Amino acid sequence: MTDIRTRFAPSPTGYMHLGGLRTALYAYLFARQRGGAFILRIEDTDQEREVPGAVELIYEDMHKAGLDYDEGPDVGGDYGPYIQSERKDKYLPFAMELIEKEKAYPCFCTKEELQERRDAVTAKGEQWKYDKHCLHISKDEAKRRMESGEPYVIRQNIPEDGKSQFDDLVFGSVGVDRKVLDDNVLIKTDGLPTYNFANVIDDHLMQISHVIRGTEYMSSTPKYNMLYEAFNWQPPIYMHLPVVMKDATRKLSKRHGDPGFEDLLQQGYLRDAIINFIALLGWAPKDNREFFTLPELVKAFDVKGISLSSSIFNIDKLNWFNSEYIKKMDFEEYLVMVTPWFDKALKGKGIDYRRLAELMHSRTEVFSLVPGMVGFLAELPDYSIDLYSHQKMKTDPLLSLKVLKLALTTAAALRDFSEDALKESLMKLAAEHGWKTGQVMWPVRVALSGLSSTPGGATEIAYLLGREETLQRLAIGINFLEQYCSMHNIHLDE
Ligand code: GLU
Repeated sequence: MTDIRTRFAPSPTGYMHLGGLRTALYAYLFARQRGGAFILRIEDTDQEREVPGAVELIYEDMHKAGLDYDEGPDVGGDYGPYIQSERKDKYLPFAMELIEKEKAYPCFCTKEELQERRDAVTAKGEQWKYDKHCLHISKDEAKRRMESGEPYVIRQNIPEDGKSQFDDLVFGSVGVDRKVLDDNVLIKTDGLPTYNFANVIDDHLMQISHVIRGTEYMSSTPKYNMLYEAFNWQPPIYMHLPVVMKDATRKLSKRHGDPGFEDLLQQGYLRDAIINFIALLGWAPKDNREFFTLPELVKAFDVKGISLSSSIFNIDKLNWFNSEYIKKMDFEEYLVMVTPWFDKALKGKGIDYRRLAELMHSRTEVFSLVPGMVGFLAELPDYSIDLYSHQKMKTDPLLSLKVLKLALTTAAALRDFSEDALKESLMKLAAEHGWKTGQVMWPVRVALSGLSSTPGGATEIAYLLGREETLQRLAIGINFLEQYCSMHNIHLDE
């Protein structure tokens, strides 16, 4: 193994955000490509946000995504524990060291005091940041108050002037004016670190070489580097990833009902299609190739192809990927996967699933759409008379009525109710009356399905429905057309 070490550091929110999945994927690809290690670290110092079962869900999602990690809470490793709440004693001594070095200081301001001063500043239309009030408390007094049990936080002491700069693998040189940086809390009153502190300590202790994460952390990165500097540690190399957007103005978010990884799997998106799609959400290979398996991504991934602008989650594109992956699936595998979706609409109806699957395989975009597409086999939907008038097929209600009457007799007389026999007899019917094939097949298909678009045509549907249901639906069609024709004074010239 090389000394390349990347990590994915999710907070357990109970939801694998697609932006998060992409971060995990890129961190995984980066490490795998270079023979390095990929680490999972759970960032749960914000106990208020804790969601029960959320940590296990992260393991599960990583597993489902195929992103195996070399070190992590459930797989172990030399740098554990990998859950921040289990490391809670590690951070305070480092914060104390910073106080010693005057790079941090205890702050005793109460919530109310802070609120009052914040209000006064914002009332003037200015941006609030901590006013370094407690920086000016003498060391002795601060020590005495800390020891007396008075609640305090520890804040980073950020110099007020000058600029901080770092090199990002994606964004190049990034500079931030120090005066905009807040003296962030490093340790909270409960003694637990904030993200702002824990990420630095842990990335260092876990010897992370490359920090790959979302751009929302980019403006704080100079602050983190000041911490590395204060400790005399080598900072990692950073790679910030642009945000994944829902559209031009909105971020993808759970609150707005945008799907997470788990939702997509449940809706019947294939893991490989999702990963392929996510990989291209903000990254493009040199040759604009579109299809990649995970091992192929490991080979092809290149930081140079990462876009600097945010990318938009385009569900149509995901659907397209998904349908392409489904088409490429082995038929038997497809049959297994589609069966529960057929069941949702057709359970107990005695439909030949294998034949239906043959008809559906190339038409399945997303599995969750399958029940809606095949439901007509269980129940004939209401449909409009207009369906019988098809310009290209040259059909209208009167012709349809003639056709259905004859088709009913023909089908009823068939001994062998197979697709071939049905087809042959309906073709014969068309030939005998000088009709085009479509002039017969269209009305039959409409009568059997109530739809203008179906998996398979008239004879496939008839076979799937079986003799009894087919005859019944043809009779319903005849009835419907007769009523229509008599209401509109259209007569069959028999
Ligand atoms: N815990 C942070 C998050 O879930 C991770 C940020 C990072 O990768 O440093 O967004």
